[in-house]
Amino acid sequence: MRATTATIDLAALARNLERARQAAPQSRVLAVVKADGYGHGLERVALALRAADGFGVATLTDAERIRRLGLRQRVVLLSGFDEAKDLLDLRALQVDPVIHHESQLRLLEADRKAKPMRVWLKFNTGMNRLGFQPAEARRSYERLRALPWIDPDIVLMTHFASADEPDAGDTLAQCERFAAFTEGLPGPRSLANSAALQRFPATHADWVRPGGWLYGMSTFSDRSGAELGLEPAMSLGTRLIAINELAAGDRIGYGGSYRCPEAMRVGIAAIGYGDGYPRALPSGTPILVAGRRASTVGRVSMDLVAIDLRQVPEAEVGSEVIAWGPTLPVEHIAAAAGTIGYELTCGVTRRVAFAEAGAALSPQTPRVRS
Ligand SMILES: *Cc1c(COP(=O)(O)O)cnc(C)c1O
Repeated sequence: MRATTATIDLAALARNLERARQAAPQSRVLAVVKADGYGHGLERVALALRAADGFGVATLTDAERIRRLGLRQRVVLLSGFDEAKDLLDLRALQVDPVIHHESQLRLLEADRKAKPMRVWLKFNTGMNRLGFQPAEARRSYERLRALPWIDPDIVLMTHFASADEPDAGDTLAQCERFAAFTEGLPGPRSLANSAALQRFPATHADWVRPGGWLYGMSTFSDRSGAELGLEPAMSLGTRLIAINELAAGDRIGYGGSYRCPEAMRVGIAAIGYGDGYPRALPSGTPILVAGRRASTVGRVSMDLVAIDLRQVPEAEVGSEVIAWGPTLPVEHIAAAAGTIGYELTCGVTRRVAFAEAGAALSPQTPRVRS
């Protein structure tokens, strides 16, 4: 049986949320759970984070999954809606859409149902992805306020492009633009993603919006989540299913890209890019075998990867292999593949089994399977 398993530590998720509260004690926390809770499983993540003040999602389907758990907090649809029929679902599910574009204002103004709705209004302060431009900022607010069924407590928001970059200049410039756009407008404010929560307390405002933080991940290039004092919530593990005694000069895997420098033991672990362990990872990528650090050799294939066992003489068929987890930061593995940890946890594929670890927060916390 294939043993490849992503184990999610529910208590780590809950404690990371608590750390977000401590870091921003005056703010409410919108737990960002898009992309299936950054690949950790939306239902289990939302329940583990049920103490959050709200949830941020990217699709209406995910909003519906949260409501089906019986969670009543605010749910914010971060990319808003794009069709008139979405408005029905938004209302039925009591979801707050983010209004970021003129086309959405027109749909709202043409809406005949005219039932109450809470909205977040997004301004583009330099990310140049979603949000109203400076010239339209005030007018967009006024158009929303002119609709009597829109809750007047409109949350004013923006998103940072570079809060994790060493140079703080771009983020400070975005803050200044946001202050200028919103000057004199009433209503709560929301700016900070995980990196800004960590690094720019002045941006915490009324709602912080951490995603990666909650899963114990960082996007800073020089510090992993664990190094920031967070607890990585995912451990991706498997087992050795074969061990080969190879001779000097033997080549390993597709293309024979690795050549053994001496006689050596090489383990074969049941994990590959078909599980979300990237093919881009080079020979020498760290991997844990029986709790000890080893490194991969040769190309990652769909189902398998080869491991140099010279540093792990006690390894045997069946030994536990960890691709990433609390003691092997996913950020380091991601860097070797030229990406960030988020992409790796989001990329764990459907054939991987999920398991849960860590005591549930309270005895009544239901356990979910997915
Ligand atoms: C994804 C997202 C976040 C969370 O970003 P992290 O880097 O994971 O903290 C916050 N706000 C918006 C609008 C997002 O799309």
